[in-house]
Amino acid sequence: MPVNDEMCEICEVWTAEDLYPCRVCTRVFHDGCLREMGYLRNDSVQELTETAHTSMGWSCYYCDNINLLLTEEEMYSLMETFKQCKIIPESCLGSDDFLSYKHFVSRQLFDEQMTEEMEELELGQFSALDPEKRGQIEWADFLYHESIRVLEKFRSQNSLVRLLTAKERERARASFTALDQDKDGLITGGESKKAQHTWFRKHTKESQSCNVRLVGLCSPVLNFSISHVGPISESSPASSGSGKSRDQDENRQVDWLEFLKENAIYILAARPNSGAVHLRPPL
Ligand SMILES: [Zn+2]
Ligand SMILES: [Zn+2]
Repeated sequence: MPVNDEMCEICEVWTAEDLYPCRVCTRVFHDGCLREMGYLRNDSVQELTETAHTSMGWSCYYCDNINLLLTEEEMYSLMETFKQCKIIPESCLGSDDFLSYKHFVSRQLFDEQMTEEMEELELGQFSALDPEKRGQIEWADFLYHESIRVLEKFRSQNSLVRLLTAKERERARASFTALDQDKDGLITGGESKKAQHTWFRKHTKESQSCNVRLVGLCSPVLNFSISHVGPISESSPASSGSGKSRDQDENRQVDWLEFLKENAIYILAARPNSGAVHLRPPL
């Protein structure tokens, strides 16, 4: 396992006191320093102290914020699109705002009209982002969601792999090794796809489910992962006739590098502490 830093990221002091490691990068922190800087609200102090030293782990404020992975240009164009759609940063979005934004993006970026089916998928994502059915989604959740989509759409698989940290590669390596039971360096496409769900941390406590930031990764990332067979998601009725190509996809041979490429976007999407409790995994 990659070695953690020795000194607290914030105060740069080494003390014998307990330092909490990030599960993504090598930074370590004092809980007191995090609180003092306002990076930890009272309700997240408990999460930090309970999870940071477990296999579930805790993501620091750099790694928790997927939006930081975007380049200046990507961020600029995302913000321009928000502006054109009259989406006001830091405010909540209703399903109408969300849908009209999606329509705009579909027209502008892909030069296509959203079909009814696509609209339904987007609404599904909206409800995944709104588990309490309040009729609106938080700005932070929306920004997280759109940032993932920017990465998924505009970055190559290789560049996504380059975003992974040593810890993330290590964890992926362990998963791959566990799947490769006959040790020939190859697993199946089906196994690789199943692994895409496993990066997301499982929260067990009911009390936490009310303030989780969630992910509605249904169609876009799925399209990404099966982009070679076309733009129709596997779960859609329209693709049910392609059972043969699905079998081929399930049985194809996947080596370590291919596995890493196919899983990179999901590993990144799973970085936030509160991510993915409501993940709707592609089936
Ligand atoms: Zn400190
Ligand atoms: Zn970190």
